[in-house]
Amino acid sequence: MNIAANKVVSVHYTLTEGTADGQLVETTNGNQPLVFIYGIGMMIPDFEKNLAGLKSGDKFEFGIPAASAYGEYDETALVEVPKNIFETDGKIPDGLLEVGNMLPLTDQNGNHFQGMVAWVGLDKVKIDFNHPMAGVDLYFTGHVEAVRDADPSELAHGHVHGEGGHHH
Ligand SMILES: [Zn+2]
Repeated sequence: MNIAANKVVSVHYTLTEGTADGQLVETTNGNQPLVFIYGIGMMIPDFEKNLAGLKSGDKFEFGIPAASAYGEYDETALVEVPKNIFETDGKIPDGLLEVGNMLPLTDQNGNHFQGMVAWVGLDKVKIDFNHPMAGVDLYFTGHVEAVRDADPSELAHGHVHGEGGHHH
């Protein structure tokens, strides 16, 4: 069976930065494979495009430029704000404003999002709202473990049931 829309696809993959020899981002090796429904927008579109037509046992290896993955790095998404907006009862919680920390934030419309502490000054901090993988070219190597038809309840729910998916 070949990978196409509405198939449940299991793959083992290793994601590195830029090239196959680049810095390791993540790998499924030694863990459960990634299991997803193909063609319903769960994955990066270029990731799916590169798997089209493959079958169980097939290997793959391809790159996705940053612009087609998590986007280019946006300098304007690095924002300087006063430290005191993070005060609770007049005090900034210990350890909150440390470089690399992800801060849960809420905008004026009540939407939740995250920003990373990028720089800490005397009374200001810079928060980076870029996706952590922004500006990174992705490189995937791996193989297809299995391909099967999604059942109607999986398509209705928009996620995989059973092994590697939801149990309910
Ligand atoms: Zn479900």
